[in-house]
Order: sequence, then structure tokens, then C-alpha cells
Amino acid sequence: MSKVFDLFIIGGGINGAGIARDAAGRGLSVCLADKGEIGGATSSWSTKLIHGGLRYLENYEFKLVRESLKEREIVYKIARHISKPIPFIIPHTDKIRSAWLIKFGLLLYDNLGGKTRIPKSKTLDLNKKFPNILKEKYKTGFQYYDIQIDDKKLTKLNAKDAKRNNAKILEYNKVKKAEIINNEWVISLQNKKKIKSKVLINASGPWINETLHKSIKIKSKNKIRLVKGSHIITKKLYKEDVAFTFQNTDKRIIFVIPYKKKFSLIGTTEVEVKSPENTVISKQETQYLIRSVNNYLKKQISKKDIVDTYSGIRPLIEDFKEASKVTRDYVFDLNIVKKLPLLNIYGGKLTTYRKLSEKVLIDLKAFLPKTKKGPWTDKKKLF
Ligand SMILES: Cc1cc2nc3c(=O)[nH]c(=O)nc-3n(C[C@H](O)[C@H](O)[C@H](O)COP(=O)(O)OP(=O)(O)OC[C@H]3O[C@@H](n4cnc5c(N)ncnc54)[C@H](O)[C@@H]3O)c2cc1C
Repeated sequence: MSKVFDLFIIGGGINGAGIARDAAGRGLSVCLADKGEIGGATSSWSTKLIHGGLRYLENYEFKLVRESLKEREIVYKIARHISKPIPFIIPHTDKIRSAWLIKFGLLLYDNLGGKTRIPKSKTLDLNKKFPNILKEKYKTGFQYYDIQIDDKKLTKLNAKDAKRNNAKILEYNKVKKAEIINNEWVISLQNKKKIKSKVLINASGPWINETLHKSIKIKSKNKIRLVKGSHIITKKLYKEDVAFTFQNTDKRIIFVIPYKKKFSLIGTTEVEVKSPENTVISKQETQYLIRSVNNYLKKQISKKDIVDTYSGIRPLIEDFKEASKVTRDYVFDLNIVKKLPLLNIYGGKLTTYRKLSEKVLIDLKAFLPKTKKGPWTDKKKLF
């Protein structure tokens, strides 16, 4: 008789890989399949920050910021070799946000997550500190810290550790169909193999509803909005090891972050799209990013300075707000299909993947065999 796995996970992005690692480490039998490379989609197209999300405070998302700041501390501890804290500078401009509002936001940001090894925020004299980088009219700045991480590596290390704990990890193997036969999930893969499982998790990121409709043949309860975010990469724009958080007149923010020693990473944008496929930056997005940077930096950039670009898709739960106001928190949608569980995972952030994985195992506890080991991923380093 062929093996019946405890868990089958569709999607090897950070969420799928994180769940696989946590579950396999507790002794559960896990199989994960991705239609491409592990970490090859949204989880390698992010801004590569493990952050609380200072900006979300404006939308009163205190719970999300608090959880993210706590996770920032843990992820930095377990993945120190692929992450580092960097200072972010917000040049002050009265036209967009008042100084007191930013200071109040940073006070919350410094304290919401509890004890931290990450330096606290402070006010800077920009003309003294960065006379060669910023235009002279930006006199005051606010400095805070966040963590930069190799997002793809973080995902791959999670999958690698899951494998070490006997999880079966399949790459370049699309899930074509998932159905219930004889009280078991039967998952048909692209390579024609069939895998059996007691529990099915749909962690297919921006493809979540496509997987649900086309492969599992279930109607989704949650409507999603696909919002593209693009980045441009230029040769290093300045030598200092600091990042900038530029405020735009549309109230959005743009980051300029030192990237792989020789480059600067600039992003991101928010553009609604119809499909998660073929994500490339548009001319308008490129212009928007260049314009934002040129509002602040002395050295002006143009299209010629761009050495690379990438774009990713955020699957945001539709709540009919502006894209920048829609929550970045995750939402679980647990369905019982002919008595068997199917968990759909909507949204989320790189930063919160570990906590999300723990919560998945709490929510599915009733459907899984009892394990001796409880939560463990907050202590064990990734390698
Ligand atoms: C522009 C942008 C910037 C961001 N910046 C940050 C940031 O700085 N910090 C942060 O914390 N978060 C950030 N995020 C959010 C973060 O990147 C995502 O929340 C996270 O990567 C989502 O991971 P995932 O596993 O859900 O999706 P994905 O990484 O997309 O993984 C889903 C996987 O499912 C696979 N798949 C789909 N359909 C099938 C199928 N039928 N069969 C098999 N496999 C399938 C895909 O190949 C894919 O690998 C950003 C997001 C975007 C778009």
C-alpha cells in the first residue's frame, strides 16, 4: 500500500517551506511540491526586509507590527548568517508627514516588539551626516533599523531543514489535481505520480485561487487582488552602508537599500494586475521609481543607470481599500471537504512566515497525529 502523508503542501515559497520545516521537525510526515524552484517566485522578488512595517502603523495595524517586530528578533537570531541590521533614514519633509507623527510612530516601532538587540531610533542632522548624498533642503532625518535578508536563501534553508527531517520536497512538479478518494486526499502531480495525504495545504502564493479553482475545484470564499510590486537595481548610488526611506507625495514610501556590495535596490510600486504570470516592470513604474529617488538624491539617476529589475505579486485580500491600505497580514481559510481538511493561506509577509507556520500546526492539530515535540523553530538555527 502506498504511503499516506500527514501533510501535503502545494507551494514551496517561504510559507510552504516554513510549514514543511516546522511540521517535519515535529515528526510529522510531509510532502511539498512546487511547480518551479523552491523560493523561486514571490519569495525571491521581495524587498528582502525582515521588518515590523513602520508604514502599517498609519493604518492602525498594531497587532501585525507587534508580531512582525517580535519575529524580526527571532528570524535575526536563527538566520544571522544571511541577514544584517541596516540603518534606514527618513528625510523629513513637512509637506507629507509632520515630524511629531514620525517621531511618535518611531517611538511605537522601538517599543511595540518588546526587548530587542536592534538599535533604537534617533533624529539626525542630514546636512552634517550625508552632505554628499541628499539634497540640501532635507535638513532633518529620522533613523531607525530593520533587517536585510537573502529571501530566497531563507526559503531554501527552510526546505533543506525539512528535508533533513525526512520531508519529501519536489521541485518542478506542478500539482495538477487534488481530490478526495476513499477518505484521503489524492494529489496528482505533473510527473503523473499520485501522492496521498490526510491534510492538504494550499500555500501557492499569488496562484492561490487559481490552484483552488483549477486543481482542487473548489470555489474560494476570499476574493483577492493581485498587486504587482517592482524594483530597479542600479550600481551603488553612494558608498555609505545606509538605506533611505523616501516619502512620496502620494504618501507611499520608496526604499533605496545597499544591495550585494556593488548595487542599490530601489522599490517598490503598487500596480493592480489580472494574472500572477509574466511579471515585469512597466515604463510607468520605472519612471515612478526614478522620480522618487531624484526628488531626494543629489546625484540624479536615469534609465541608463538601471542594471536589472524584478517584480513580484502580492495576493491581497480584497477589502475595497487603496492597495497601500490593504492589510499585509495573513488569513487562514480552513475548509472541511468530505470530512478532510484543506487549509488555504492568503497573503502574509516574509517576516511572519515562522509564526504563520506555528499557527498552521495549531489550527490543524485535530487532524494530525499527536507529536511529542511542540513549537521549536524559534530556537534552532537555520543552516
Ligand atoms: C514586491 C514585494 C515586496 C515584498 N517585500 C517584502 C519584504 O521586504 N518583507 C516581507 O516580510 N515581505 C515582503 N513581501 C511579501 C512576501 O514576499 C510574501 O508574503 C511571501 O514571499 C509570500 O510567500 P508565499 O510562500 O505565500 O508565496 P510564493 O513565494 O509565491 O510561493 C508560492 C509557490 O507556489 C508555487 N505554486 C503555485 N501554484 C502551484 C501548483 N499548482 N503546484 C505546485 N506549486 C505551485 C509557486 O511556484 C511558488 O513557488 C513582498 C512582496 C512583494 C510582492
